[in-house]
Amino acid sequence: MDFSLTEREAHYRDRVRDFIESHVRPRMPDYKSQVAEGDRWQPVPVIEELKPKARAAGLWNLFMPPAPALAHVDESFAFEGTQLTNLEYALCAEEMGRIVWASEVFNCSAPDTGNMEVFHRYGTRRQKDEWLAPLMNGEIRSAFLMTEPGVASSDATNIQCEIRRDGDDYVVNGRKWWSSGAGDPRCKVAIVMGKTDPDAKKHQQQSMVLMPLDAPGVTVERALTVYGYDDAPHGHMEVKLDNVRIPASAMLLGEGRGFEIAQGRLGPGRIHHCMRTIGAAEEAIAAMAKRLQSRVAFGKALSEHSVWEQRIAEARIDIEMSRLLCLKAADMMDKAGNKAAKAEIAMIKVAAPRMALRIIDDAVQAHGAAGVSQDFNLASSWAGIRTLRLADGPDEVHNRAIALMEFARHGA
Ligand SMILES: Cc1cc2nc3c(=O)[nH]c(=O)nc-3n(C[C@H](O)[C@H](O)[C@H](O)COP(=O)(O)OP(=O)(O)OC[C@H]3O[C@@H](n4cnc5c(N)ncnc54)[C@H](O)[C@@H]3O)c2cc1C
Repeated sequence: MDFSLTEREAHYRDRVRDFIESHVRPRMPDYKSQVAEGDRWQPVPVIEELKPKARAAGLWNLFMPPAPALAHVDESFAFEGTQLTNLEYALCAEEMGRIVWASEVFNCSAPDTGNMEVFHRYGTRRQKDEWLAPLMNGEIRSAFLMTEPGVASSDATNIQCEIRRDGDDYVVNGRKWWSSGAGDPRCKVAIVMGKTDPDAKKHQQQSMVLMPLDAPGVTVERALTVYGYDDAPHGHMEVKLDNVRIPASAMLLGEGRGFEIAQGRLGPGRIHHCMRTIGAAEEAIAAMAKRLQSRVAFGKALSEHSVWEQRIAEARIDIEMSRLLCLKAADMMDKAGNKAAKAEIAMIKVAAPRMALRIIDDAVQAHGAAGVSQDFNLASSWAGIRTLRLADGPDEVHNRAIALMEFARHGA
């Protein structure tokens, strides 16, 4: 076991870090003012301005899995990412997680990363040409439509959306919500999960299809808020699908194979959030430490009150533990595959947001009333990370998977 970084691991992490510190962080005031002004549901100019710079620096599509993992699918598809391993990418994603909009600058933001992996792994050459190429160029964006308001969607067998074959087409009917990214006018395609055969075996009823968001019958009805934040222009939308007709060629992988795709999609995608979350926790501990040393109460710096020594120390311990688990999960995915790493993926999926939420909450406390205001990024960071205890499956579902593996290990 060697905990030191290889030259390549440090190289990419440092280049992402330098780019963020020299190009992204100085533009935070511009981002804030641009999001607040005018039509909030339009692309943010500062991100569009920085994307070509990141691309020119070779810091683009860093998440794309290494070629060997994909070679069996379509060797003729030339458009690859930077080919980082999950471990190498984990270190870069942590840096991106420090600023909420940074990952989009590198074309590495959710849900596009997970969706692009789906296209890459399971798409036909035609589907890739149509959707993956513009996604990898950062020209369009995408959404993933699984969750439905009518059913407990943490159990994907509940999904009710109907995908009915009709001649050379499929006709789709259903209602989805929490469709992240569907508020952005550049969002042109959705991966939609629904039932093609309600009578098939439980895990073969569902399929996934590709749906242009401008297809007749698709209505983006409203934006849902997260503790009052609408996350414009990305958004988390409620979408009505009313007799949406798509060609049979829009089926991904094959009828009844939706679960298979969901499993493939959520492995790396789940831990990308965790990596970014560790970056958000690093930002919070930094803000907390600075603030505590800069203000005096009851005759001494806040940092000298012993309760804050305890909180800072615990925050550092928790970050280090979480980072190690996250890197272990990434390393196992690289060496043994996503399936072999399923316990570690589930563990870090639960651990990372809980850890970050505790630290951000302490950082809010350290800032006093300012901590809950718009002047610091702590309130919005807490709200965003709180959703990660739900999105991509609630804690309980992942804990259940961990517990079942543990019970199996110690079975009578
Ligand atoms: C900001 C945000 C973005 C999202 N983006 C997307 C997206 O892009 N696409 C998409 O399809 N979905 C998205 N989601 C939805 C998310 O994936 C679902 O909310 C999640 O899967 C849970 O489904 P549900 O909301 O229907 O909760 P339910 O399934 O109704 O579950 C409610 C609660 O029941 C409990 N529970 C569930 N299972 C168990 C169990 N086995 N044991 C004990 N308790 C249990 C949990 O506490 C859970 O929180 C997003 C959600 C948020 C908040």
